[in-house]
Amino acid sequence: MGTYAVTGSASGMGYEAAQRLRNQGHMVIGVDIRHADVVADLSTSGGRHAAAHGVLTASGGTLDGAVLAAGLGPTPGRLHQIGEVNFAGVVDLLMAWRPALAAATHAKVVVIGSNSTSTTPLVPRRAVRALLTGDTEKAVRCVRRLGKGAPALIYAASKTAVTRWVRNHAVRPEWAGAGIRLNVLAPGAVLTPLLQEQLSSPDLARAVRAFPVPTGGFGDPGHLADWMCFMLSDSADFLCGSVIFVDGGSDAYFRGNDWPKPVPAARLVPYMRRFVGFHHRLRRGR
Ligand code: NAD
Repeated sequence: MGTYAVTGSASGMGYEAAQRLRNQGHMVIGVDIRHADVVADLSTSGGRHAAAHGVLTASGGTLDGAVLAAGLGPTPGRLHQIGEVNFAGVVDLLMAWRPALAAATHAKVVVIGSNSTSTTPLVPRRAVRALLTGDTEKAVRCVRRLGKGAPALIYAASKTAVTRWVRNHAVRPEWAGAGIRLNVLAPGAVLTPLLQEQLSSPDLARAVRAFPVPTGGFGDPGHLADWMCFMLSDSADFLCGSVIFVDGGSDAYFRGNDWPKPVPAARLVPYMRRFVGFHHRLRRGR
């Protein structure tokens, strides 16, 4: 049986994932701002340091996997915290836990992203870049200029930044080469306390309910946790840097023709000679 860290373990999808892992007989080290094995505020660097350290101590230095589910929704008045928890609250912990994940030889990590990454228009690129360079204040300034939409924009920017971070790091020798699989699960609207908070505000509720979801309805947090457990299992050994959308079809509805998209030829130049040689040999029947 393995040892898993789960952030956001006190509620919603993180809670459901922790319960499932415990029911499978694994040891789970829950991290949350309340009701957790390691209580820490992931919106501050001190809290992230305490969370990283607390998990490493409790795990004895080996982690078979992690679920990074702690997060804030697009709540007005909390722009800075959204950026800090949703981006730094993932990246700082993963960097600190990397040696413990590598020690397990086949570790799996699931980061909870969001379909807001592909369905929110006008997210400032500069905000995403600022988050990726650790400048949350700059990211907040970029979205504040855009007025009422700022909470949704910092939320989508934070999820875009964390998704890009995962995809770019997943393929590197110190992650993929060390046997660690990093992947993103991107939910749509899932009925958890986070969504319930949005539904309790008439304006936000109207926007949530008007959003196209081809299947209709909301996602079930337990079903999302089942996806997480699958992405932590041996069946996910070949899954690396992927983003799995589980969103009732909203991403496909808006972005059906945007993806897949071929890689720009310039990026293939280093591999081209080998590739062309292979095709020549194939055509000559050798
Ligand atoms: P939730 O509110 O039920 O759970 C989030 C958890 O994160 C809570 O237990 C909360 O205490 C914890 N958390 C928040 N701020 C924290 C902090 N500063 N320090 C430590 N812990 C903190 O919400 P959920 O819907 O289960 O969200 C899980 C993840 O899924 C989040 O990253 C969220 O952004 C993402 N997500 C949710 C939806 C949705 O519709 N529910 C959609 C897409 C993505």
